[in-house]
Amino acid sequence: MARPREVVVVGAGIIGASIAWHLASAGAAVTVLDAGDAGGGATADSFAWINASWGNPEPYFRLRQRAMAEWRRLETAVPALNVAWRGGLCWDMPDEQMADFARQHGGWEYGVRMTGPAEIAVIEPNLLCPPRLAVHVAGEAAVEPRDAAVALLTDARARGARFSAGTPVSGLVARGDAVVGVVAADSVILADEVVLAAGAGTPAMLATVGLNYAMTTPAGLLAHSRPFPRILNGIVLAPGVHIRQTREGRVVAGANFGGEDPGSDPEVAATVLQRAKAMLKGAEGLALDFHTLGYRPTPASGFPAIGRVNDMPGLYLAVMHSGVTLAPAVGLFAAAEMISGRRDPLLAPYGVPAIARLS
Ligand SMILES: Cc1cc2nc3c(=O)[nH]c(=O)nc-3n(C[C@H](O)[C@H](O)[C@H](O)COP(=O)(O)OP(=O)(O)OC[C@H]3O[C@@H](n4cnc5c(N)ncnc54)[C@H](O)[C@@H]3O)c2cc1C
Repeated sequence: MARPREVVVVGAGIIGASIAWHLASAGAAVTVLDAGDAGGGATADSFAWINASWGNPEPYFRLRQRAMAEWRRLETAVPALNVAWRGGLCWDMPDEQMADFARQHGGWEYGVRMTGPAEIAVIEPNLLCPPRLAVHVAGEAAVEPRDAAVALLTDARARGARFSAGTPVSGLVARGDAVVGVVAADSVILADEVVLAAGAGTPAMLATVGLNYAMTTPAGLLAHSRPFPRILNGIVLAPGVHIRQTREGRVVAGANFGGEDPGSDPEVAATVLQRAKAMLKGAEGLALDFHTLGYRPTPASGFPAIGRVNDMPGLYLAVMHSGVTLAPAVGLFAAAEMISGRRDPLLAPYGVPAIARLS
């Protein structure tokens, strides 16, 4: 019998956790290493809205739509994922754009509907001033992102994977053109395959094999209220504020800061939560508990970068924004590609562009 492929996954965010789960499920011998704990990077600071919403080219929409379907498969295998399929209600764009969204995504079978005040009042009965018009997608969802990464890794461990938290990887080990392992805790760990799912840590890792990887990490602040009786059904995307309520009842509110870094000022967080409060009936007692400032790992193209790096054997990269939405599909496709060599056609536009060497 052939020995299982030894794979080291660097990073235990939602992407590393999903790739590890799919690899372990397919029989690979998987070791996951993270400098911190499971789901603790951008994943922990994510709004975690699972969607294939407005504003993307069709190939990217198709990948996201498939990822939404793969969440359904994955939650059947790992019920602890607790995906909240509560739908999304959106009116943070002009009326014509909403109409375009409904027309285009309706044609793509996204299950999107234009709704008016009466229906909106049923979908979200606690809105103080329901809008005249909103787009509703019943099939959108959210997860508690850190819990989801932990659930995937716990299940991956039950399938034989090993996970080492608090283990920074200081470099990749190359032999000739190939990557053959990593250095962690002053030891070399050899592997048939190294998966880089290190989010914002990707450039530092690739620099250790002489590659100059450029990416951006736009900041995003989220205000979290104290747990509160259920006041929201699903995800609400209103002009100036996006809100949802977590499983434990916290209202999470985020705002678009026009690409600026909002900093980590508690007063900014209080203002963002105040916007949510002002929209909701019976929210007088809603109080800020804490806020997060996260950094979205984003390749220079703005789209995912998934696959081989400069054709180097033994190295597989997975870095992207919208990783919470994409994780189940990326995990499935990446594991299949590493094991069988077959690349899913949905990944065709999202290979890793050639990376220049450090000068
Ligand atoms: C404010 C905000 C809102 C967002 N909203 C959404 C949303 O609504 N929907 C959506 O789909 N996505 C959203 N995202 C994006 C999504 O959260 C990310 O795309 C996703 O979490 C990335 O996951 P990851 O596993 O690639 O990276 P991360 O979660 O950052 O995980 C990378 C891991 O690698 C580890 N690591 C790095 N370097 C090393 C090293 N050298 N050694 C060992 N470990 C290392 C880190 O400790 C970390 O745990 C949002 C992000 C933010 C910040």
